[in-house]
Amino acid sequence: MELRSINPTSGKTLKRYSVPGPSRVDQMIRATFRAQKTWKGWPPGDRASLLDQAARILKERSRDLGKLMALEMGKPMTQGIAEAEKCASACLYYSANAERFLAPEPVETDASQSMVVQEPLGIVLGVMPWNFPFWQVFRFAVPTLAAGNGVLLKHASCVPGCATAIEKIFLEAGFPAGLFRTLLVPSGQVPAILSHPLVSAVSLTGSTGAGKDIARRAGALLKKAVLELGGSDAYLVLEDADLEMAAETCVKSRLINNGESCIAAKRFIVVEDVFDEFLEKFVSRMASRKMGDPLDPSTEVGPLARADLRKSLHLQVRKSIRLGARCVLGGSIPEGPGAFYPPTVLTRVKKGMPAFDEELFGPVAALIRARDEKQAIAMANDSSFGLGAAVFTRDLERGLRIARTELEAGNCFVNGLVKSDPRLPFGGVKQSGYGRELGSYGIREFVNIKTVWIR
Ligand code: NAP
Repeated sequence: MELRSINPTSGKTLKRYSVPGPSRVDQMIRATFRAQKTWKGWPPGDRASLLDQAARILKERSRDLGKLMALEMGKPMTQGIAEAEKCASACLYYSANAERFLAPEPVETDASQSMVVQEPLGIVLGVMPWNFPFWQVFRFAVPTLAAGNGVLLKHASCVPGCATAIEKIFLEAGFPAGLFRTLLVPSGQVPAILSHPLVSAVSLTGSTGAGKDIARRAGALLKKAVLELGGSDAYLVLEDADLEMAAETCVKSRLINNGESCIAAKRFIVVEDVFDEFLEKFVSRMASRKMGDPLDPSTEVGPLARADLRKSLHLQVRKSIRLGARCVLGGSIPEGPGAFYPPTVLTRVKKGMPAFDEELFGPVAALIRARDEKQAIAMANDSSFGLGAAVFTRDLERGLRIARTELEAGNCFVNGLVKSDPRLPFGGVKQSGYGRELGSYGIREFVNIKTVWIR
């Protein structure tokens, strides 16, 4: 059995990778277990210096890594370079802060001494998606390793080259051999790995379907799970918004990473008073973005990561149109090689259509007209997902109230596009999953929060 890396721009196979059998996987898990046993005793400062080394390698190699992402999953190379640098920033953030986040916390009780300490859980399995093939892995793995755990990476089957390159970075940075291990296996092998007695916990970033499957299995095994799942983020444009800035930000959010981002804006809910003006600004910008070879530095939209993903996206667009949506831009598959899908705008989108109810993982925007703020908020929340949301208004008090208390999502932004940041926790509610990554919260997901009490 093998995994294949296929260039979505040409459709050609780049490389084939053989899949290890169950006994080899078992050996690798045991090696990670041994490495973790030593690693957990390393002083925090020594662990931090390896994170600094990983950051250095990521920065030095960012061009090559950007090229690898472009070739393997179609991300515009400029965005891939930025992604590698963002991974370096996460390494540096935890290098500087992990010791503080993990420090023992003394608590006054009836004891002579009592405290809370944080101990690693052991081996954590990371099941990761292809869309940010470096960032998703680093944002999970860096705090998990910094807390003293070992990591097994089961990356998406279509990015074995990225998965291999990541393991190499950790090794070259000086992490003990086997502590971070890439397992080049398809998803069918995940249940056996998760149920391995030496695997303590799992973190999955991916679709809601995969999340439910992992949650069910982890639940049956009583193993801790963190789930970062899909989204259908709503961006609210209110009548007092700066429409130029809102249109620019909304287009950027919809098209970044070829539209294949969990926190891309997917539904744009615009109040009636400014709907037509916003639509004009939005469509002209969507139409002006350059689609092409992701290796070309002027390309803003590359191909989707795989031909099958383009097919599913197109079916969602066609079905939404059949149910009454109007396609005002794009919406058809271009001739020629590559999994390209053009920036597309649908209007008259309503509940009951895929463009409203489901996640559209590609450069397709759904524009929705709302009577007023109240209806816009109700529509934003009328979703099974709850990952991110944004509101555009010149009234910052109003923005704060809506972001803080009205929107049902894990990440709510005012006058800006929803993004992850090593300093801030990231995660969702509802069908977008549970648990948090990044910030001080991320490092505490895979630790035993242990109470120590001394008479
Ligand atoms: P996916 O098909 O769910 O795959 C994600 C990972 O899970 C892959 O490694 C995949 O392996 C594995 N997998 C799939 N089904 C599985 C199952 N039943 N049991 C165990 N593992 C399974 O998702 P994707 O297409 O790669 O990524 C896109 C999705 O990820 C979108 O829904 C997006 O919103 C979500 N996402 C969420 C976040 C977040 O932070 N919330 C961030 C990025 C992406 P194979 O490749 O071998 O099938």
